Amino acid sequence: MKPLFHPRLINDVFGDPGVYVEYLFEKRALLFDLGDLHRLPPRRILKVTDVFVSHTHLDHFNGFDRLLRICLGREKRLRLFGPPGFIERVYHKLSAYTWNLVENYTNNFLLEVTDVEPASLRTVRLRCRNAFRMEHKEPRAPVDNVILDEETFRVRAVRLDHSIPCLAFALEEKVHFNIMKNKLEAMGLPVGAWLKEMKASVVRGDPEDTPVRVRWKKEGKAQERVMPLGSLKSEILQITPGQKISYAVDLVYHQENAEKFVKLARGSDLLFIECCFLQEDKDLAAQKYHLTAYQAGLLAKTAGVKRVIPFHFSPRYEGRDQLLVDELHKAMENR
Ligand SMILES: [Zn+2]
Repeated sequence: MKPLFHPRLINDVFGDPGVYVEYLFEKRALLFDLGDLHRLPPRRILKVTDVFVSHTHLDHFNGFDRLLRICLGREKRLRLFGPPGFIERVYHKLSAYTWNLVENYTNNFLLEVTDVEPASLRTVRLRCRNAFRMEHKEPRAPVDNVILDEETFRVRAVRLDHSIPCLAFALEEKVHFNIMKNKLEAMGLPVGAWLKEMKASVVRGDPEDTPVRVRWKKEGKAQERVMPLGSLKSEILQITPGQKISYAVDLVYHQENAEKFVKLARGSDLLFIECCFLQEDKDLAAQKYHLTAYQAGLLAKTAGVKRVIPFHFSPRYEGRDQLLVDELHKAMENR
């Protein structure tokens, strides 16, 4: 099965936390946390459409300027999601610069920033050509913690305790489709944009008799075939559960955090989780509202996560990172 999302850490395990998720077929990407982005080349940053910020401690938010620098002057909408107070912070970052010539820009660069509050999602629009003045959108209530709901995927967020509210996220592909190329060939049908349209139609739950138009050219002549969605679906599509990727950083280990995290991350194919401290330093971890590698492993195990990528290691373990990795795996194997 060809996965839709290709996530990877932006920096090494001691660097600023952040995950870049490439979205296959769509020429777009998602970003979890906004720390140091210098390892991402501009062409990758330009693909980013949505950014999910756990909280605004410096190591999770200092990449905002680079993101802005690269995207400014482009025809682009960038959506950013963060904890309560996030809009204010983005606005103040923007307010630190002078924007006197932007009304002449030919491109429309737009930021849509959302505060993820327990009972509501509050969004503002900040347009470059409008010198990033705040325009308020109607707040909406999240259903089941879903903060972004698109045709093919959704993102959920929960608020965890890091002495301040800190968001953890789960990215879920709704269903996964494999096109059976051999069947397609046998039916004499070409690959093309129509396949994407057909998948969208299946996701929408369109009726089985919905006509699907396949158009192509053969020896210069236009060809067309119209087939019902239902029979095409059963012939060429293999439908499997979608990928689930979770991201959790900066949470203290206590029961309430554990319960919220487990509910969010349950059954993830892949989990990115902080492993800040060793269990021998658990008091320090608690003082700083971080997890130990052992605690991260227990959480991952309880959530039934298939694969874990540990990161966000404290610099005190520089040169000893394997200890953190081993501790995480030990906790995951313990029954
Ligand atoms: Zn942190």
